[in-house]
Amino acid sequence: MPRIQLLSPRLANQIAAGEVVERPASVVKEVLENSLDAGATRVEIDVEAGGSKLIRIRDNGGGMAAEDLPLALARHATSKIASLEDLERVGSLGFRGEALASIGSVSRLTLTSNPADDGSEGSSAACEGRDMEVLLRPAPHPRGTTVEVRDLFFNTPARRKFLRTEKTEFSHLEEVVKRLALSRFDVAFSLRHNGRVLHNLKPGDSQAERQRRVATICGPAFMEQALYIETDQPPLKLWGWVGLPTFSRSQADLQYFFVNGRIIRDRLVAHAVKQAYRDVLYHGRHPAFVLYLELDPAQVDVNVHPTKHEVRFRDGRAVHNFIFSSLHRALADVRPGDQQADSSADLGDGTAVDTLTGEITRQGGLAWGIQPASSGSAGTGGAAAYRGQAGAAPGLAAEQVRDYGRVHGLPAVDADEEVPPLGYALAQLRGIYILAENARGLVLVDMHAAHERITYERLKTARAHEGIRSQPLLVPRAVAVSQREVQVAAEHGDLFQRLGMVVEVAGDESLVIRQIPVSLRDSNVEQLLRDVLADLIEFGSSDRIEGHLDEILSTMACHGSVRANRRLTIPEMNALLRDMEETERSGQCNHGRPTWTQLSVEELDRLFLRGR
Ligand code: ADP
Ligand code: MG
Repeated sequence: MPRIQLLSPRLANQIAAGEVVERPASVVKEVLENSLDAGATRVEIDVEAGGSKLIRIRDNGGGMAAEDLPLALARHATSKIASLEDLERVGSLGFRGEALASIGSVSRLTLTSNPADDGSEGSSAACEGRDMEVLLRPAPHPRGTTVEVRDLFFNTPARRKFLRTEKTEFSHLEEVVKRLALSRFDVAFSLRHNGRVLHNLKPGDSQAERQRRVATICGPAFMEQALYIETDQPPLKLWGWVGLPTFSRSQADLQYFFVNGRIIRDRLVAHAVKQAYRDVLYHGRHPAFVLYLELDPAQVDVNVHPTKHEVRFRDGRAVHNFIFSSLHRALADVRPGDQQADSSADLGDGTAVDTLTGEITRQGGLAWGIQPASSGSAGTGGAAAYRGQAGAAPGLAAEQVRDYGRVHGLPAVDADEEVPPLGYALAQLRGIYILAENARGLVLVDMHAAHERITYERLKTARAHEGIRSQPLLVPRAVAVSQREVQVAAEHGDLFQRLGMVVEVAGDESLVIRQIPVSLRDSNVEQLLRDVLADLIEFGSSDRIEGHLDEILSTMACHGSVRANRRLTIPEMNALLRDMEETERSGQCNHGRPTWTQLSVEELDRLFLRGR
């Protein structure tokens, strides 16, 4: 073994750079965060060759005095925290004091800055050599800072080899800019690549301006099919936009979650969101969202990971529960109702998307809206023909026969009449679709999909009223688990009980399942129990049992719903439309497919080139 010796500053910094500087995008993240921490209201990003040749970022923030420049380039030097207490409630994006030193050790870095607004000259600094001595000289610069990073990894060829094509590196870099632009609506961002301006985002903090920025970054289609939510339950606040379940994605690529303005990827948050979408999302699809969680900085530890992508919540359970319940409520309340007036009008171009592929397919938006939460009633039942077969399912009252006479026959919809959101049925197409007329124009309904959801929600409500039928196991099943799992199972006895499962402690490392829900008798309940315990330990909550129970109800609902090629009378169709208006989550069938869509008169006019 050779003798121990101190690393040279450059080598020590290069090792640190291994953690924070993975690619050009990481440089942009660190430098932009510094600009935001310095109070900049405008940042200009100029990039060449995907960022590996040049990254230049100029801001109009507070700037630095000449004597501070060498410190800015030194490791473990920061102006953002001075004590452990500061660290425990840090409000700035940076605090580790090592980004510039790391970047400087693997590139040709120049800092030019000026803290004064009085026309005085600024100064510039670059570090050189093994010990990273700083070369200082006067340089003109208005108030603010410019960081120039050339030839990233020029002196670390092994790392340079890991860089991908210019296009790939640039797309990572652009993603970083988008995230930061979503985190600060009040700051102007511009991004140029190889001399071409790609983004020029104006600042603005009104709701309309925010929506415009989100639409620019996430695409107008997202904005048109997103709900704005805002839940304030001190000390927690959640606001932002969540995509309707029908605007799902094949990848988890449109998911932005900010905690006190910092973008994070967190398992707890991801789990809460996924749980909220469980019942409405098409299998294997990912929801889209831009969400902001605000809480006391002392309640969240950001010093968990060098890149700060992960955080730790002091009260993870409360945060999980808050996110879940806010989103769950908002999604359940999506009803055919008022149009989402503001955003689509704002975007103006009338583009819509294919609800499953996310592709832009036609002019005009889908009409979606939210209504205040209804009483969540079990519904009053529809017309016999479309309801009949569901009678096989337990919990569905067979006597839900509709008084046809109360339902309209074939009224003409005139503009000032009170028309229900989904209007009145006109006809049936191919035994699959219902055509209806409402105040905006034509409504198209997939009757099987719609009825399936109505039946499913009704079955769930019946279950909520009547309780879950459960049965004792002939032979109780012993399950070997850890001590921690025994403890958690004991703590959550009521959760199991409520869902029809009786789980008892049989020893230090052993549980016994005595009773299970009747409908789960063919399921692997031991595995289910283990999964639930794992969830409880990690997230403080689990919806797996409900998930399984719901899946069974969903299958029952599917079999019990009107099939294609079934002729419905006009009153039967109208009854189905009215039930849809009453039913939670009726915009999607049990599998997350859309149940209806709207073609407005304006869209029809466009199709026929009327009024030009
Ligand atoms: P950290 O951000 O963790 O403090 P950095 O290495 O990123 O560490 O930056 C070191 C210091 O340099 C910062 O604390 C800040 O005082 C100063 N600094 C860096 N960039 C800027 C900037 N754009 N404007 C003003 N000061 C800056
Ligand atoms: Mg920093």
